[in-house]
Amino acid sequence: MHALDAHELYRFFHIGDDETAALRGVSFHLGAGEIVALTGPSGSGKSTLLSCVTGLDEPDGGHVDVSGVRLTRRSEAERTRIRAGSFGILLQSGNLFGHLTVEQNLRLQMLLAEKEDRERIAPLLESVGLLHRAAAFPSELSGGETARAGLAVALAADPPILVADEPTAEVDRDTESRLIGHFEARREAGLATLLATHSKALAQRADRVIRLKDGRIVRD
Ligand code: ADP
Ligand code: MG
Repeated sequence: MHALDAHELYRFFHIGDDETAALRGVSFHLGAGEIVALTGPSGSGKSTLLSCVTGLDEPDGGHVDVSGVRLTRRSEAERTRIRAGSFGILLQSGNLFGHLTVEQNLRLQMLLAEKEDRERIAPLLESVGLLHRAAAFPSELSGGETARAGLAVALAADPPILVADEPTAEVDRDTESRLIGHFEARREAGLATLLATHSKALAQRADRVIRLKDGRIVRD
């Protein structure tokens, strides 16, 4: 049984008379302790795939299983419950609540996953270089700080599956190395990590690289 199994996913978007097939039969799996990098040109379907496998979006065809539990074709409430227990998620739209400070966002994430551990907050913020910004609100952060805060939130509860969209897009080299350290620590702990990325450094450290093009997997 895999941490994540995606089977024949299809997703279509309609704008006026135009139809975009963002996903055209995408199947892949993610094993516990595996780091998988999702690559491919802009518009190839990476973000759509991450939304579908986390249950934030519902595919038009196919299904997704999370540790053997069907995630697709369920009520919003059930998907939310499965998501809270299984995933840490950082999408391009961000994952910070604007009315909460960085530290409060981390605590909330731990609470939602029923894994509250205040002792872990400071070391986690320190490791992404944001300890001095713990009391800041998201609107007060720079682009790079927002990305790092978002990643800290996604990592906060040691989720069985981490899904992150371009997690190192706005960070410098040193920070990228530190973040790679986090992903490798997850591998050691037997936790699964799925990253959409343009970073060569990140793809090189992955166990597998899946390349998407026009909504199809062209290499795994
Ligand atoms: P990537 O993340 O690889 O850049 P996306 O998954 O964002 O690719 O997009 C795949 C395709 O689906 C693109 O053609 C994009 O324009 C389209 N698309 C994605 N989301 C939407 C949406 N909400 N409405 C309409 N079209 C969308
Ligand atoms: Mg994208």
